[in-house]
Amino acid sequence: MNTGQLLDTEPLMGLRFVTLTQQELVNALSHAVAKRLNGVERLNRVESAPSDEQPLFIVTANAEIVMRARRDAGYRRILHEADVIVPDGIGVVLAARLLGRRIPERIAGIDLMQALIARAEAEEWRVFFLGARPEVLPRAIAGVQKRHPKLIIDGHHGYFGPEQEAAILQRIAAFRPALLFVGLGVPKQEQWIVRHRAHLPAVLAMGVGGSFDVLGGAVRRAPLPWRRLGLEWLWRLKEEPWRARRMAALPRFALLAVAVRLGLAREEPGRRSL
Ligand code: UDP
Repeated sequence: MNTGQLLDTEPLMGLRFVTLTQQELVNALSHAVAKRLNGVERLNRVESAPSDEQPLFIVTANAEIVMRARRDAGYRRILHEADVIVPDGIGVVLAARLLGRRIPERIAGIDLMQALIARAEAEEWRVFFLGARPEVLPRAIAGVQKRHPKLIIDGHHGYFGPEQEAAILQRIAAFRPALLFVGLGVPKQEQWIVRHRAHLPAVLAMGVGGSFDVLGGAVRRAPLPWRRLGLEWLWRLKEEPWRARRMAALPRFALLAVAVRLGLAREEPGRRSL
């Protein structure tokens, strides 16, 4: 299954972004997950070999990720493995508008995750959280469980060494999640998913950055009016000023979009690009 090929996309700065609204994307992904799970159930009933399909790999990309993919060929190759790349940033949406690409709206990773979790509760899909600090993850899970009492959820924090990895993979395999959310930060989470993808029993795997910190109350998300104004990045800068260095990618991305529009820079990453 490669939903990325089924879903409509538009190219932008060397990546192909999905052109659906959040609601449409949640429906499309839920449909793909349900179809796959039904298939596995049917196979199990007739005692055939289980499906060996890899999980759908979802990347939520903001300006920082686009700029990282431009300078880091290894990370770029990883993103090219994604089935769906989601426009998670006002910068991406504005650049798309400037370059005449059909990207209808920003889809924040945390919103997509929460919408999928709501579906998971209704459909009885198991959910696994991998990531966040050991003291934060249980709070994130407890918070989600409170809002979704029927949800079947488990998780493991994100501070583990290579020697613990096999045990964590076993735990995920035993739990058999439909949805696996990986919050190890960029680029670790995408690298981790791609490295283990062939052996992950999940139907869908998605990097969610610091979303467990928000769910666990360790970080406050921007209030709705800030989000509506497209200023979530400014809120993050205010709350976590240490991000300033990483967020320097934002103005560089904006400049690049303008330069591409004026024909002064190549859109695809390459030697002559900014
Ligand atoms: N994290 C983790 N293991 C690590 C490094 C980071 O679980 O080895 C977690 C960290 O606790 C935080 C998230 O990954 O919850 C990264 O959050 P951030 O907001 O920095 O995400 P990004 O901006 O990279 O998407």
